Amino acid sequence: MLILGLESSCDETAAALVRGDRTIVAHRLAGQEAAHRPYGGVVPEIAARAHVEILAPLIEQALAEAQVSLDAVDAIATTAGPGLIGGVMVGLVTGKALAHAAAKPLIAVNHLEGHALSPRLADPGLAFPYLLLLVSGGHCQLLLVEGVGRYRRLATTIDDAAGEAFDKTAKILGLGFPGGPAVERAATRGNPAAVPLPRPLKGSAEPHFSFAGLKSAVVRAHAAGRWSPEDIAASFQAAVVDCLIDRTARALETIDGATALVVAGGVAANAAVRGALEALAAKHGLRFVAPPGWLCTDNAAMIAWAGAERFAAGLTDPLDTRARARWPLDPTAEKARGAGV
Ligand code: ATP
Ligand code: MG
Ligand code: FE
Repeated sequence: MLILGLESSCDETAAALVRGDRTIVAHRLAGQEAAHRPYGGVVPEIAARAHVEILAPLIEQALAEAQVSLDAVDAIATTAGPGLIGGVMVGLVTGKALAHAAAKPLIAVNHLEGHALSPRLADPGLAFPYLLLLVSGGHCQLLLVEGVGRYRRLATTIDDAAGEAFDKTAKILGLGFPGGPAVERAATRGNPAAVPLPRPLKGSAEPHFSFAGLKSAVVRAHAAGRWSPEDIAASFQAAVVDCLIDRTARALETIDGATALVVAGGVAANAAVRGALEALAAKHGLRFVAPPGWLCTDNAAMIAWAGAERFAAGLTDPLDTRARARWPLDPTAEKARGAGV
């Protein structure tokens, strides 16, 4: 089985070819950092235009690298949401056009399912169910991954996502864009115990997350002028890691039968986050699985792989499938959220 995967939901344009046996035959990725850097964040209209220009050449390059034509592909998997709607539409329309022209099935992949299943692309031994900490630019959730398309959300953030907090901290400290890697680099030169910062929701019964208060504390610490950006970055990262570990440990107490503790999404590329989670998993006698860094941030291999998993389960989608800006993995949890979390 050979799946073509497309990704364009944020500011990475990507195309990849992945086999059912987990071979990544080809993967191409074009970031747009330079285009967005002057604005200090992703500008949706600029992102959508860039996807339009870059996606088709990337698909051609991926097919050339794999030395196959579209005929050799079994299905076309493309992100259909959630994300910046203009970008999502570019990938979805491209996927639909290719599927129609080559008479191949279309698989409309939830970008979060791409992140959620990426650890199974990296590790063939990872079996369901597993506890997943999904930490990315737009999401911070704990999910029990029970199977393909079967996600039970145990917790979410009541305000900002962890990646968003990294990005905002980088902006406050003038460390540049994209923020996560910049904060991680600065943190290596700082003292994580230098700045007293809060650990929002630490110790609370429900394993939810909160990062808005931490961001405000970073603003105040920076304004105080007492600490270097490196010390603030290191202290901020330590606070985030503390919160992620405390909340994940709480979730572990509420479930049983998980085969592994797994992390995915852009923030999972952070070495401090990975190290602390690995130690937590060891403490609980659980396997720890984290994809390599490049599979944590947005890419098309994870979309092709989610497509492969869905295709194997007989799940394909009609050509009139809509692009969705919002698309929860666990709609029941989203409904139950109501006024609270
Ligand atoms: P979502 O997947 O929720 O739709 P997204 O696709 O924009 O959001 P990802 O590409 O999965 O998010 O992750 C990007 C986020 O990960 C950014 O917020 C970025 O700052 C963060 N990130 C990337 N590398 C690191 C790192 N080394 N340390 C901390 N954060 C990081
Ligand atoms: Mg990005
Ligand atoms: Fe993502």
